[in-house]
Amino acid sequence: MKQFHASHTIQKMRKRRAESLEAPAHALNSDLDTCPVYGSEAMLSAAPCLDIPQHPLTPRIAQQLVLDELNLDGNTRLNMASFVTTWMEPEADRLILEAMRKNFIDLDEYGQTAEIHKRCVNIIARLLHAPDPQNSAPIYTGSSTVGSSEAILLAVLAMKLRWRAVAAKHALKNPNLVFGANAHIVWTKACFYFDIEARIAPVSPDCLVLTPDRMLPLVDDCTIGVALMFASTINGQYEDVLAVHEALSRLNAQRQHNAFKFEVPIHVDAASGGFVAPFVTPDLIWDFRLPLVKSINISGHKFGLVYAGVGWVLFREAADLPEEMVFHINYLGGDQAHFGLNFSKSASNVIAQYYNLVRYGFEGYRAVLNAQMANARFLRRELETHGSCKGRLRMVDKLDIPLVAFALEGGSRFSVYDVQDHLRQSGWIVPAYRCPRGAEQLEIMRVVVKQDFSHDMIQLFVQSLVHTIEFLDHHFVSRTSIPARPHGRRYKKMASKSSGATNVIHRHSGKATTGIC
Ligand SMILES: *Cc1c(COP(=O)(O)O)cnc(C)c1O
Repeated sequence: MKQFHASHTIQKMRKRRAESLEAPAHALNSDLDTCPVYGSEAMLSAAPCLDIPQHPLTPRIAQQLVLDELNLDGNTRLNMASFVTTWMEPEADRLILEAMRKNFIDLDEYGQTAEIHKRCVNIIARLLHAPDPQNSAPIYTGSSTVGSSEAILLAVLAMKLRWRAVAAKHALKNPNLVFGANAHIVWTKACFYFDIEARIAPVSPDCLVLTPDRMLPLVDDCTIGVALMFASTINGQYEDVLAVHEALSRLNAQRQHNAFKFEVPIHVDAASGGFVAPFVTPDLIWDFRLPLVKSINISGHKFGLVYAGVGWVLFREAADLPEEMVFHINYLGGDQAHFGLNFSKSASNVIAQYYNLVRYGFEGYRAVLNAQMANARFLRRELETHGSCKGRLRMVDKLDIPLVAFALEGGSRFSVYDVQDHLRQSGWIVPAYRCPRGAEQLEIMRVVVKQDFSHDMIQLFVQSLVHTIEFLDHHFVSRTSIPARPHGRRYKKMASKSSGATNVIHRHSGKATTGIC
C-alpha cells in the first residue's frame, strides 16, 4: 500500500515536471543576465523535489527560488520555543562568514583556529571553576561539539569507560545511568546508543525535577553516574546539584567499605544554565567546585549567545577523560588531543564563541543575562496580572533561568494546545506539551526569553495572548461536545481542518513533548 502511494506520487511529480518543461514560448531563457527573475522559465516550473535538474540556473534565480520557499518557515524572532540563539551582532555575522570556509579539524592548516579553540576551552573551564590543570601549559580538558547532545554522548561514553575499568575486575556487566524523567531526550538516546540501562526517576506535578530521595534508591554497583539537569528543559528549574552531591558523597563513602571501590560521579547537563549561573547567581554551587562533578556540558548556542551549532564538553581533569577516547594529532610541533563524534565541521561557531567571549567579557554577559532575567520577571508579572490573563495561568517555572512556563488554571474549556494553535495565527511560536512520567496530567507552555525578546516585544506578545484567551473564551467549541456528523460530509471536512482536530491528535499522540529543545 505504502509502495503504491510512493510510486503514485513519483508519477505525479514526473508529470508535473514534464508539463512544466513545456513552458510558454514567451518565457525567457534563464541563462541570460538580463532575464527578469519572475519572467524566467525556472519560475514557471515546479522546484526540483526528486531528481537533480538537468540544467543549471543562474545564481540569482536559484537564490530567489530557495528564498521564496524559506518564507514558509516560522519567523525565528517570534520563536519562543527554542533556547537557541536567533540574533547576533553584525560583526559576528562577518566573522562567521569568514570562518565558514575553514574546516575546523584541519588543525595543521588552521593552527590559529586550534589555538582559539583551546582558549575557549580554558576560559569556559575556568568560568566553571575547574581545578588548575597539572600540566604546565595550562590546558584544561574539554572540546567544542556540535551542541550539548554531542557533548553528552561523549561524557556518557567517558563515564561508561571509567566504570568499566573498575567493573571488569568484579565481573560486573550491565551498566546503568540515573537521571530524572525530566531529562532531555538525548539522555535516553545516549543510553540506547551505548547499551546502558536508563534508570529514570519519575517526577511529580508539584516537583518536576530529580531530588536526592528520588535518586538514591536507583544507584547500585552498576551505576556509571548520575546526570543532573541544570536547568530542566521542561520548566527551566535547576536541579539541586549541591543536595544530590551531598547524598551521593555519603552513599559513596558507605560503599567504600565494599570491595567494589567505584565512586559514582555526577555529570551536570548545563546546556542552558551553564552560561547563566556564572553571571546571574555566581554564588550558587553546582559546578566543578563540587568534587564528584567530573564532567559538564554547555550549549554555546543557547545562553552562550552563538547561532546553532556549538556546544562544549568539559572534564574536571585530564584523568576523567579515558585515554581510549583521545586521538592524538601532532601539529606544529605540539601534541593536540582530539576527541569527538564528528570529524569535519565549519570553524564558524567556535570563532563566533570566541568573539562573544572577547566582545562581551564577564560584565557584558552579565548585563545581557540580567536583562533577560528582568524581561522574564516582567513577562511573568504580566501573565499573572494583565487583562484576561489574570487568574487564568499558573506559573510552573522557578525563574532560575530566563524562561517562563505556565499551565492553565482549572476551569478553562480549552487546553494549552488550543492556545498554542491560536497564538500561531499571529506568528508567535510557543510550545505546549505534556509533562514527563509522574506528572503526565500536567500540560504546560514555555516561553524562552532570549536576548532579542525585549520589553517591547514582550508587551506585544502579552497583547496577543490576552486576545487569544478572550477569543477562546467566546468562540472555543470543544470537538468532543459536537455531535457526530451534524451536517454529513461537509462537517467532516470542516472538522478535520479545525485546530481542535490537530489538538486531539497532539494530545493523544503519546509523545511527552513536541517542538522544544
Ligand atoms: C538543549 C538541551 C540539550 C540538548 O542540547 P543541544 O545543544 O540542542 O544538542 C540537552 N540537555 C538540556 C538540559 C537542554 O536544555
